[in-house]
Amino acid sequence: MNKKMRFLICSLILMLIAIGFIIDQKPFMSDSKEEPNNQENDHLEGTVAKDSTGEKYKIIIDPGHGGEDPGSIGVSGSYEKDFTLSLAMKVFHLMDDIPRIEVYMTRDKDVFLSAETRVRPKFANDLKADLYISLHANTFTDPSVSGTETYYYDQSSFALANMLHKYVAEATGFRNRGVKKEDLFVLRDTNMPAILLEIGYMTNPKEEQTMLTETFQQQVAKSIKNGVKEYLKIDG
Ligand SMILES: [Zn+2]
Repeated sequence: MNKKMRFLICSLILMLIAIGFIIDQKPFMSDSKEEPNNQENDHLEGTVAKDSTGEKYKIIIDPGHGGEDPGSIGVSGSYEKDFTLSLAMKVFHLMDDIPRIEVYMTRDKDVFLSAETRVRPKFANDLKADLYISLHANTFTDPSVSGTETYYYDQSSFALANMLHKYVAEATGFRNRGVKKEDLFVLRDTNMPAILLEIGYMTNPKEEQTMLTETFQQQVAKSIKNGVKEYLKIDG
């Protein structure tokens, strides 16, 4: 091999290394572009500001299901619709004590509210409510599946979802399943920050038993109240 050949081969190897390096860099660059960190903006977007006016915040508490729609059925045969109503009544009474808050419920008895006619979001939109909180309990075929999770749909509800999830997941002490984006009509058709809390799994024997106790429900209701107070920056 003469000098010229050796030089050519060396150059070729260097070129291949350089090409390999460029190809390697590309996905890293596009990846880092795909993760904008705009949590700060989300928080500002989702915050309702009524501080200067002294107006009351209208909060909607929505006990999931009702009437002919029992929701999930627990291991012991309990209905999700009864759990959500029992919890919602507790949240209602706790929030009713806060002077800056006017609290409403989509139902306060065992009645069916049609999803087809969108009664729930309509009720909240007509009232020009500030926040919408839907209460549910989860279900799954595998009884070992457990935990608390929170859903939001619109980006403007993300801050509320995070705030309430932090409080509620701590209060339940169940597995923390996180905050997820979900296309549900009560979240999609409401004009204000709206979230749906899945407190725990009715199909998990241990969680169902815990969820049916008064102490637990009181604890979760209190955490919802505290989360809302922090979100709205209400003291006292
Ligand atoms: Zn449900």
